[in-house]
Amino acid sequence: MRTPAGFECKYFYGDYFRGRSVEECRLIQASGEKWSADLCKTCPVPAIGRANACEFLQMRAKVTRPFTAGFMRRVEVAAFCEKSNKSVKEPQVGCGECHPLPNIFEVK
Ligand code: SF4
Repeated sequence: MRTPAGFECKYFYGDYFRGRSVEECRLIQASGEKWSADLCKTCPVPAIGRANACEFLQMRAKVTRPFTAGFMRRVEVAAFCEKSNKSVKEPQVGCGECHPLPNIFEVK
């Protein structure tokens, strides 16, 4: 579903049927934190979803207030691969188990 910021996000739920105005982020809701629509503007999750559609990638989000963002609320994502049982440092790239990079990318 499309977020208030205009990006497709599988964790966003909006119900506007017959005048309703229910909006939720199921990812942030799962972590027990409070969601507000402004978080979608800078959230990295839609970009991760566009770059990596791996079915085994699981994400966990938390809301932080980093110094670099002027203590504004931001979504921070931790990713985990269910297949390789590894945490994924770069969720846009993945863990490398299913889609290894070709040898030409190896640094010798
Ligand atoms: S906060 Fe991030 S994960 Fe949640 S609905 Fe918005 S874009 Fe999606």
